[in-house]
Amino acid sequence: MKTLIIYLYLFSLFFLMETGTCQAQESNVFRKTGGIPETFSPLPVFEVLPTGWIKDQIQSNLDGFTGHLDSLVPDLILKDDIYGKNRLSRNDKTKDVGAITGNGELQAQFLWWNSETQSNWRDGYIRSAILTGDQDHLLKAKDYVQGMLMKQEPDGYLGIYDKDLRYSFDNENGELWAKTTALRGLLAWYEFVRNFTVLKDIEAAVRNVMKNYPVNASHPFHSVNPDAGGLTHGLVFTDVLEELWRITGKTEYRDYCIFLYKDFSEQVLNEDAQYSKLADTLLSLKGHGVHTYEHLRAVAAACYASGSPELKKALQNFIKKIIPEINPSGGPSGDEWIAGHAADATNHGYEYCSIHELMNSFTDLLAKTGDAGFGDLAEKIFFNAAQGARNPVESSIAYLKTDNSCSMLGGLNGDTTVKTQTRYKYSPVHQDVAVCCVPNAGRIAPYYVQNMWMKDEQGIIAALLGPSEVETEFKGKQVKIEEKTAYPYENTIVFMVTTFDTEFDLKIRKPAWADKIRVSEVYTEDKGYIIIHKQWKDEQDVTLTFYPEVKTRQDNKGDYYFTYGALVLARRIESIGQQTKTYPLQGFRDMHYKPLSFNTLEFANQKVIQKRIDRLEFITSMYNRTSEKNETVLLFPVGQTILRQVTFKQKSTE
Ligand SMILES: [Zn+2]
Repeated sequence: MKTLIIYLYLFSLFFLMETGTCQAQESNVFRKTGGIPETFSPLPVFEVLPTGWIKDQIQSNLDGFTGHLDSLVPDLILKDDIYGKNRLSRNDKTKDVGAITGNGELQAQFLWWNSETQSNWRDGYIRSAILTGDQDHLLKAKDYVQGMLMKQEPDGYLGIYDKDLRYSFDNENGELWAKTTALRGLLAWYEFVRNFTVLKDIEAAVRNVMKNYPVNASHPFHSVNPDAGGLTHGLVFTDVLEELWRITGKTEYRDYCIFLYKDFSEQVLNEDAQYSKLADTLLSLKGHGVHTYEHLRAVAAACYASGSPELKKALQNFIKKIIPEINPSGGPSGDEWIAGHAADATNHGYEYCSIHELMNSFTDLLAKTGDAGFGDLAEKIFFNAAQGARNPVESSIAYLKTDNSCSMLGGLNGDTTVKTQTRYKYSPVHQDVAVCCVPNAGRIAPYYVQNMWMKDEQGIIAALLGPSEVETEFKGKQVKIEEKTAYPYENTIVFMVTTFDTEFDLKIRKPAWADKIRVSEVYTEDKGYIIIHKQWKDEQDVTLTFYPEVKTRQDNKGDYYFTYGALVLARRIESIGQQTKTYPLQGFRDMHYKPLSFNTLEFANQKVIQKRIDRLEFITSMYNRTSEKNETVLLFPVGQTILRQVTFKQKSTE
């Protein structure tokens, strides 16, 4: 369909890269042939700061679920010192891991859940504190980091297992995953404070892994059971390795990504990202969505570390398989399973964890490839799916959401056949399923911010657009750029460049939808970027204006939806909210929403026009099959809705 064709066009640059064949001997696939440099360099956490609405959103997360999750689920966070005195040993048989189904006789190695809850939450929390400069939260973040590093053992071990379990598994475990989630947060803190003791401790923790899981002489992903959630989450230990490589320049960290992906590929596991499955272009994605979408980064890491043409081909295949899973809002299918279905805006939900992880993978590919199309996909996810699964009026999120959402009463669009399905509701916690999505809802905005600005040999790149400021060094000279805008809610951006006297390219990613632009400076255009090359001096402004129009698009099923610039539009369905749970902490609650009345409307080939130039409110006419008449419909950005209709079937002529 149209959407797919557009994406394939966007990725033409990436797909045209020299590729090898997937028929090569598998043993050769993982060889290092040189490594590929990343096209753009991502910047450290503190060099890019949010302003405007993005800063407000991060602050409101700190005032809401991100700032209070430890108090909302104290048993999972404050009372379980899982990296310290409550480390798991063979004697642990049960534990409260924050889910209805989590009790029962389990082996200790399975009980890693609270490490993910704690450390993904801490990662978002630390980054949010840094990005807002909130002194109280910064102090708490500092205490946490110091506390974590105190738990590290003299040999470098930083993890959740006692000596009787460490690095000795033949089944599900959270050894690498617990470290990944914790070390990502500690690395963010290091980039903020630049305290080399913190870096030394992080390196010691990683070297402890590399010593105990030696390259080509161990099997960190071996499992007698092919369904091993925590074990395979651990593949994104590559996030930590790549960041350490970028910080220290030590190639052994990056090279270790090749070994991890090789061992992951050689084990019997039910995972989409294994090499042999990616090499098979006819095999569709079936796995747990969040694994599949985060593993995209691990495959990219192994591909870039090795330079292997077969891994490059596998990466390209992986991207081609993921594209059909993307809904109009950018939300990637998986409820929690992809299960071989292409995206379906009504019948297949997407998980908040997957929203974050796929956006994170696309920003990683944007840096690696420089392909502007990945920036469009990341913006689409953050501005639409991520905003559209947040409650627009209070601090809570949907664990699962669909683009067409006519009911949020626990089940998918009013379905009540599975009594334990509670994911389709708004909660600041979702403890009745798993406290995974809320921590990730606190990570997504900080990760978007960090990737808004990047660098290359020629200059500084506005890679993802929105209100922000960057202060960095270019060839030894200090440069500050303020990006003044309410994008994507307005389409004029002023870049205020301050530097003493520096020659460089200001490169601005031009969104694929932007047909018409105006730039206040002389510029060239290359591969999806607007390039302004000059000798920058003192303080100079560049004003960039986009002139978006409402565009009618089609999804995988051929149904119609509408975009205005970077925003996907939706028809609001009026709803009534019902509080289903309260918390000891005032201001937090779980909410169900049911429609006041609801008819699915159909696309009647009518134009959509902006109602008022100063408002994001659009008007059109749609066909109502019940009344057999067209009716006036207002459309709004999907992020401003709770219940909604995003896609519209073609009005049939019967
Ligand atoms: Zn989740």
